[in-house]
Amino acid sequence: MTYFCNDCSYRGKKSGQGGECPACGSFNLVSSKAQQEEPPPAKWRLVLLAVLWAYLIAMIIWKLLH
Ligand SMILES: [Zn+2]
Repeated sequence: MTYFCNDCSYRGKKSGQGGECPACGSFNLVSSKAQQEEPPPAKWRLVLLAVLWAYLIAMIIWKLLH
């Protein structure tokens, strides 16, 4: 987990003992774990992809049959 200071742009793996920025002492410090956390995979994207593929396959089959 790394920390990022919004006041002095400090970035490092350590924060102060009280959770403050070790560079400038500001408490405007955010842990980048929350910032860089990967967004959960969007299920609607998978559904959309599946629907598109099904549509494509259905169109190919329709073309082959007609
Ligand atoms: Zn700072």
